[in-house]
Amino acid sequence: MRAVAVFPHSREVKLIEVEEPRIAHPSEVKLRILDVGICGTDKEICAFQYGTPPDGSDYLILGHESLGEVVEVGPGVRDIAVGDLVVTMVRRPCPHTECHPCRAGRPDFCATGDFTERGIKGLHGFLTEYVVDDARYMHVVPAALRKAGVLTEPLTIAEKAFAQAVYIERRMPWLAGITPQSPERDELTAAILGAGAVGLLGALALRAMGIETYVYDRVPPPNAKSRLVELIGAHYVSPADSSMSFTDLIGHVHFIYEATGVSQLAFQAIMALRPNSILVFTGVPGQGAHKEMDTDTLMRNMVLKNQVILGTVNADAAAYASAIRHIATFVERWPQAIDTVIADRYPLDAYRDLLLGQTSGIKNVLSFEAASQA
Ligand code: BGC
Repeated sequence: MRAVAVFPHSREVKLIEVEEPRIAHPSEVKLRILDVGICGTDKEICAFQYGTPPDGSDYLILGHESLGEVVEVGPGVRDIAVGDLVVTMVRRPCPHTECHPCRAGRPDFCATGDFTERGIKGLHGFLTEYVVDDARYMHVVPAALRKAGVLTEPLTIAEKAFAQAVYIERRMPWLAGITPQSPERDELTAAILGAGAVGLLGALALRAMGIETYVYDRVPPPNAKSRLVELIGAHYVSPADSSMSFTDLIGHVHFIYEATGVSQLAFQAIMALRPNSILVFTGVPGQGAHKEMDTDTLMRNMVLKNQVILGTVNADAAAYASAIRHIATFVERWPQAIDTVIADRYPLDAYRDLLLGQTSGIKNVLSFEAASQA
């Protein structure tokens, strides 16, 4: 079967033929891959800045944002059936007994760093025709989400971040009685930094929760992203010139979700936090040049306003479940939004353009069902 793989030593990215995987344990499921989303992490792996092949292999099969259709289930599998659509989780636990997070089923908090990730670190990914994995890492997606299901994994990043924010909010006892339906919730304001796929999916989820949302991006409106932001009832803001700070544009908000990986912008955003509020970082900057920042003002603000900065990576099973629920809401409320986020699906032979070139779509998807360009 065909697979797209990166060879770090010979610095190549190419289409290869590999053997089709087979079910080897009763709890395994075999999938025919339908869609694979491409993100910044895949591009970094293809630029040889990130990513590790499995032990003993000189290549890594790419792809971690996937949607597959079940073609076979092992005899021990109960809740997944042939024909189901499935999204498979990315991270697997490390082997160390002393790693409490991994032993507790939360490798997204792995403390040793020896976790593996499909398509990223130590395990082959999903950019291949068939995949076998344990059913415990799979989430069934309703058939109605055939087009949007591939957005599940990038949305899990926001879902985990929101769940963490809710835990942190519990430090404030007077918020205990406030439910998502309370009027106080309507007063909540949030900002998203960056209108890429991770940022826009986060904005969709915040709007689905009824939260007033600002999306900040450098690209001036009008454009496809700003139209999408307006469509979902959020506000798109962009600096007219470099002297305008984030706070000048959006004022002060209760929650900021950073999805750019631009550290200077991310730290500047602290100044736009209200007292007792949370700023979540999800972007991974490259090893960049040293940057000057007014750390005294930043620290002073954080201390005097009880603020929290939180980094978050990867996601747990609950985040996958809530991502799937939210995507169903998006499809129902804003069907055009999904068509904007995934403007085109490309056949496998377009992998070079998507992984190595400059592509314009918000979320580019390689589809095993798209007609070949050859
Ligand atoms: C993936 C995560 C992964 C992270 C770090 C992201 O692109 O979505 O699942 O944990 O990269 O490797």
